[in-house]
Amino acid sequence: MNRNTIRLVVILAAVSIIGIVSTQIFWVRRAFDINEDRFNETVSIALSAVAQRLFDYNRQTIPSQNPVKQLTDNYFVVRVNDVIDANLLEYFLKDEFRKRHLQTEFEYSIYDCSSDQMVYGKFVALDSTFKDKKSTVNLPKWDKTTYYFGVYFPAKNNTIIGEMQIWLFSSFVLVLVAIFFSYTLFVILKQKRLSEIQKDFINNMTHEFKTPIATIGISAQTLRNPKILENPDKLNKYIDIILEETNRLKKQVESVLQIAVISGNELKLRKELIDIQTIIEKAVQNVKPILETKKGSIHYEFSATQSTIAADSLHLTNILYNLLDNAVKYCDKIPQLHIRTFNENNGIVIALTDNGIGIDKKSQKHIFEKFYRVHTGNVHDVKGFGLGLHYVWLMLKAHKGTIKVQSELGKGSQFIIWLPFK
Ligand code: ADP
Repeated sequence: MNRNTIRLVVILAAVSIIGIVSTQIFWVRRAFDINEDRFNETVSIALSAVAQRLFDYNRQTIPSQNPVKQLTDNYFVVRVNDVIDANLLEYFLKDEFRKRHLQTEFEYSIYDCSSDQMVYGKFVALDSTFKDKKSTVNLPKWDKTTYYFGVYFPAKNNTIIGEMQIWLFSSFVLVLVAIFFSYTLFVILKQKRLSEIQKDFINNMTHEFKTPIATIGISAQTLRNPKILENPDKLNKYIDIILEETNRLKKQVESVLQIAVISGNELKLRKELIDIQTIIEKAVQNVKPILETKKGSIHYEFSATQSTIAADSLHLTNILYNLLDNAVKYCDKIPQLHIRTFNENNGIVIALTDNGIGIDKKSQKHIFEKFYRVHTGNVHDVKGFGLGLHYVWLMLKAHKGTIKVQSELGKGSQFIIWLPFK
């Protein structure tokens, strides 16, 4: 699949996930509204029936105006304007709700019409609504003045949601599908990135190996010419070229092998007590030739009072060499390196600062990944396989250490290593 097709598939998939989820939210909301209207209607009808029964009981004529009024989402009042027997009211409420399968808890309260003061209130739990046929306790009978009563449904939303089980189930299934779908997209994108990175690596490696091999071949052919023996200067020049290119090849093969060895096996460190300052100096010796060709300089600031650490000296030298090599490689001016050591958090910090090309914020997150190289436009401008920093990261992890990078494009970078004493 090419890059554009994958992008199109990802966009379409994301749009369809958003579309399906939005439609589901819309329909769940609609279903809730419809159920809420039905609940309100059933309550109004049940309360009208209760009022009717109270009027009949008090031998009153039924008012022409509907006595039931919904004041808020879950609060209803019923104007009776007559004597109310709490016992009877509770019985009528339970009975009418039961008849209409209104399975919810409620609170009812009786108010004095003249003062609007509550004279009596009671909470009726869900089970008692549907179990007791008739109240057994003696509730008061209010007959001194006229009254109205209010009914409050504290669990109205829960009752409605409880009736929407099929919707909840379908939403749950949809969320699962959306998660699965998103995960698949994530895997596709990750695979795509990986395959692009690997393709880059293979292209890069082919190029990096082909050039020195071709140069060595041509130089060897030239050396075969008997005339060259008469010109020792030329002879030496070609021998130097062969040696230089062989060295380059050796370094490249080593960098690939470093990673291949770690990736293939369980890493075994040969730890010994070493002095960090000595290791730094050793790594600097290795990088000296390329530093000198660029006329660069290194400034040291060894402030660590405790610089002995248990570590694998070979790997630690490689770590520092890789960082120093990069600091010189990725520098478009005269390299000026600064190495600082100091003690922190029961360990030792080695900070290497360069005045190189710097790394943008986005790439900083990826530079420690296998095969990752910052896209500079011209890939072969600076040679490399994107393995050096991955090796550094793996090795520091094996030493229980950490590495951080701070960098600004055009100004330079700072790599900060921390290694614990224990
Ligand atoms: P390589 O150097 O072989 O490409 P590395 O893993 O050593 O691979 O580095 C990964 C990338 O990080 C490099 O391609 C380079 O773009 C960037 N990088 C590493 N060190 C520096 C540095 N000191 N200054 C600027 N860029 C750097």
